Amino acid sequence: MSRIAYVNGRYLPHASAGVHIEDRGYQFADGVYEVCEVRDGKLVDATRHLARLERSLNELRIAKPLSDAALKVVLREVVARNRVEHGLVYMQVTRGVAPRDHAFPAKPIRPALVVTAKSSHVQKAESNAEKGVAVVTVPETRWARPDIKTVGLLANVLARQAARDQGAYEAWFVDAEGYVTEGASTNAWIVTGDGHFVTRHADNAILKGITRTTLIDLLKREGLKLIERPFTPDEAKTAREAFITSATSIVLPVVSVDGVPIGNGHPGSLATKLRATFHEIAEIS
Ligand code: PMP
Repeated sequence: MSRIAYVNGRYLPHASAGVHIEDRGYQFADGVYEVCEVRDGKLVDATRHLARLERSLNELRIAKPLSDAALKVVLREVVARNRVEHGLVYMQVTRGVAPRDHAFPAKPIRPALVVTAKSSHVQKAESNAEKGVAVVTVPETRWARPDIKTVGLLANVLARQAARDQGAYEAWFVDAEGYVTEGASTNAWIVTGDGHFVTRHADNAILKGITRTTLIDLLKREGLKLIERPFTPDEAKTAREAFITSATSIVLPVVSVDGVPIGNGHPGSLATKLRATFHEIAEIS
């Protein structure tokens, strides 16, 4: 079955779908994106993802291409046309097409919207979760606003490649003060010896993950204690558990940081349980 992409109002064969060479996303990374998990053909936490998309657009003064209701119709249509049962739907909005000039175009232009969907390898993801994943640390090299979900991801790309080069799954950025900010495409968590869940407070230094927010709801429901504060790689190395969260990885146990085993070197029981119950509390629509 051939894949279908949505590009500015049209559903096109994936292989021949394209954008203009003067699209400002292509020229300047002048755009934002969102990724939603698809489960049983439905969208996970779409309301929160669309709210964050709107925030990112507002921060960059990019016009909203469609209402939330219309965008949800497109997301569902792309999921259905690609017959995705379990996977991801990706949406990207750029400022639009204009002659190359760093400043915004003087006259308002139409933002460009692309939506794609793809199936995920469910068994591979589950076996990753059963084994747990390795993390390495890298210096924080991103700009000062990682809270905006822009398509400018070069530092994240280099960090992920550094992880790959060392046989690890994810890289955690470490800021100038020596604290973990977040992963290349995930939020970072530890569980302390006394069972407290620790993740960095959501300031401008990290993306406020939707999975992070929904997991906080789950921790509350379960009566588990959350502390939003930074932690160092050394604290992670002596933690009871560590894990990462994102729409793509859900809750994924981390079993080593820079080669040092976490806990007994196996996925933690708390992270494993939260992974299993996450979708009881997420919005599925
Ligand atoms: N941090 C970064 C840098 C990311 O790219 C992502 C994934 N989009 C996350 C955190 C996790 O966010 P979410 O839970 O919304 O997928």
